[in-house]
Amino acid sequence: MTNIILLGPPGAGKGTQARRLVEERGMVQLSTGDMLREAMSSGTEMGKKVADVMNRGELVTDEIVIGLIEEKLGAAQGTGFIFDGFPRTLPQADALGKLLARTGQKLNAVIEMRVDDEALVRRITGRFTCGDCGEVYHDETKPVKEAGKCDECGSSNLKRRADDNEESLKQRLMEYYKKTSPLIGYYYHAGDLFSVDGLAEIDEVAAQMAAVLDQQAG
Ligand code: AMP
Repeated sequence: MTNIILLGPPGAGKGTQARRLVEERGMVQLSTGDMLREAMSSGTEMGKKVADVMNRGELVTDEIVIGLIEEKLGAAQGTGFIFDGFPRTLPQADALGKLLARTGQKLNAVIEMRVDDEALVRRITGRFTCGDCGEVYHDETKPVKEAGKCDECGSSNLKRRADDNEESLKQRLMEYYKKTSPLIGYYYHAGDLFSVDGLAEIDEVAAQMAAVLDQQAG
């Protein structure tokens, strides 16, 4: 089992790389953002509670996301977990450490995806995904081949996230710098931190991540 965290601001490419690792290595992607969006669209009490907070680009409470991860860690099966968008605060990082220890697992690597803010605004404001298969697209850098249709599965259910606009993104970046970026120092000192160039081509980022994974596997 190889368990990794993908750490980086919104738009760094965490979701895109996580999808590749699921496909190529049989790992399990645990994205708290996806879990929360699912709760919102299925209209659960928790989903209703977090909707406004998420749309504003603020973080939901540690208690809620730790609960979600705890639930999934017990149930999912695969060759390792990819924590995508979790942890985002120091208490979440501590909680994850305890959860893994309790289930006899460890963290193999924390991969920081480095990007600059200007690139993030461009990436986020052009982003859309397939609501059926989850493929990620971009108006300029990765458009669909046939207008309104997913290249992968043919679905016309293409969606933009409610929080992928400039105003929410500003708030999401502030949250990242205030609350999430301290995790870089935290994991550096734990000896778990690796960095990749998130501005490189998707294949190049994947190659840099594969090198870390192969070195840390086990
Ligand atoms: P993401 O899909 O990772 O960009 O997450 C979208 C939104 O979900 C964030 O802006 C937060 O409002 C919320 N969220 C996702 N993961 C977390 C987390 N680990 N802690 C707090 N809020 C989260």
